[in-house]
Amino acid sequence: MLIKGKPCFAFEFKKMKKFVLILILCILLSGCRPIELPETVTEPEPDINIEYETQAPETLYNNNDGRKIICVDAGHGFDDVGCGPYLMGCYEKEVTIKAAKYLKVALEELGAEVILTHDGETYPDEKDIIAAAERHGITLKEEGIKENNIFSAYERGIYEEILARDEAIDFFISLHVNSVENASYVDGYELYYCKDNPNGILLSQFGQNLSEVLDNDISVEATAYEDSYIVTKYSKIPSVLLEMGYATNPQDAKNMTSDAWLQNLARTLAAEIVNIVEN
Ligand SMILES: [Zn+2]
Repeated sequence: MLIKGKPCFAFEFKKMKKFVLILILCILLSGCRPIELPETVTEPEPDINIEYETQAPETLYNNNDGRKIICVDAGHGFDDVGCGPYLMGCYEKEVTIKAAKYLKVALEELGAEVILTHDGETYPDEKDIIAAAERHGITLKEEGIKENNIFSAYERGIYEEILARDEAIDFFISLHVNSVENASYVDGYELYYCKDNPNGILLSQFGQNLSEVLDNDISVEATAYEDSYIVTKYSKIPSVLLEMGYATNPQDAKNMTSDAWLQNLARTLAAEIVNIVEN
């Protein structure tokens, strides 16, 4: 602070002293209680006991009729609305289910068989997930099921692994919408996979291919096991999570609420998925 061209130290000191006194008084009045931080609720991690092999399997599975099986997961759904609405005017779950259904159509057009983890209206029954997990010797943490009466990320991780053991799934993709507060300029696609996945090389190639067709407007990240999303790290099958854009960015939000844009993205993704699993 400058008064008549000179710093007024006396004034600053007086103000400081007053501030320190008020601070001490506040601490004394509060009984020196530590600041209580809000409790963070963390979802338990699936206990699937997967031992990663150092080498990718010799060949990817093939369905009996030679068709590739792709599992498409519409992120969130039901009580779990995901992010939004932000600039989209709708929640993430509404965008992801649309995108998943368009991707299913596009993949089927290319001759693949598609399994949706859910169709936006029904989802696997809790009892069925528990029974199937038992059948496969997958340990379920009770709290993971009890505290989530929706098809949660925890259940999704378990369910993905059950599907991968029941069906010869060649590729798994989970679709999501990103968001960031107070930074509407942040935009673009983000693709994540776990670098410890035995199909790491294939996933890296998929990221590169996608990057080329999307004009590099995509960040591809091979995450460490502990930092990976649940759906990308608990299965040996090639698994990726795609954030299709930012609900907080005007252009991305406009894109993701356009059926034509979603269909176009679905066709691009389908072509790259089929290309990577067939080569
Ligand atoms: Zn999401």
